[in-house]
Amino acid sequence: MLGGLFDKLKTGLTKTRDSLTDKINETLKLAITIDDDLYEELEEILIMSDIGMDTTVEIIERLKKKIRQEKINDPQEVKPAMKAVIEEMLLEGDDREVDESKKKVMLVIGVNGVGKTTSIGKLAAKNKAEGKKVLLAAADTFRAAAIDQLVVWSERAGVDIVKHGEGSDPAAVVFDAVQAAKARDVDLLICDTAGRLHNKKNLMDELAKINRIIDRELGDREKETLLVLDGTTGQNAVIQAKQFMESCPIDGIILTKLDGTAKGGVVISIKNTLNIPVRYIGVGEGVDDLQEFNAKDFAEALL
Ligand code: GDP
Ligand code: MG
Repeated sequence: MLGGLFDKLKTGLTKTRDSLTDKINETLKLAITIDDDLYEELEEILIMSDIGMDTTVEIIERLKKKIRQEKINDPQEVKPAMKAVIEEMLLEGDDREVDESKKKVMLVIGVNGVGKTTSIGKLAAKNKAEGKKVLLAAADTFRAAAIDQLVVWSERAGVDIVKHGEGSDPAAVVFDAVQAAKARDVDLLICDTAGRLHNKKNLMDELAKINRIIDRELGDREKETLLVLDGTTGQNAVIQAKQFMESCPIDGIILTKLDGTAKGGVVISIKNTLNIPVRYIGVGEGVDDLQEFNAKDFAEALL
């Protein structure tokens, strides 16, 4: 990864590092031998940083095995071993091939306030800068302010937007946007959606309808559904993801606000329990603060 981007990732993970890595360092510094007490202390630190019970148990089990196999005796050697274990867990099963050259319709979903619209703005700018033709669809029609917010991002990124009025049918916005994407030979159409409706069933029904329209109108474009989760909510983000997964196929996750939380360890938990790749992480509010997720860099920046 480029130096500047890695520095940004490191800075973004400062709070998590302060709570997780500093505690691990302290514990290891005081340890004389690698024994059950040490493992228990490490386990406690991992759970405290929102890695979740199941994932913590798995990390510790793998760590024990590695330490046995590599005949590690020195507590100072535990940290690199743990970094290797975390990296290995983040990389596992991550052999998906994303054909970046293919024209795409991206559907961005998630509950209110997690950072959907902001992430879409950042993605629009990033793809535009890479030379792609980008179009946005304002399918969060629940509030006028939501449409306005996406308009601001489209202007900032210098890309077109398809919008209808407040309260209009989001599926109709998406329909028009897909037609426009085809007519204008757009490389990437990104559809914003509402995260709050009158109730959960309403929201899921609406997403199902939008999905049907995209699937029907897609043509030879590729569909990618990204679920946005707020990193500051820790283990609740995992629960939220499970709820969305029940009604919507999800291809990847955007995990936002890692800069504002000590709960960055939740990335490992999401990967380990949901089996959905984390595609992007948000490490700030600026336009270039959305990074493509890289397991190796993440483990490196974290530990
Ligand atoms: P939406 O309701 O899901 O569309 O959420 P918004 O995109 O409107 O974002 C809600 C708030 O989260 C805004 O104030 C954003 O600036 C903020 N936000 C989004 N992503 C990040 C991030 O990665 N880091 C930080 N610090 N704030 C973020
Ligand atoms: Mg929004």
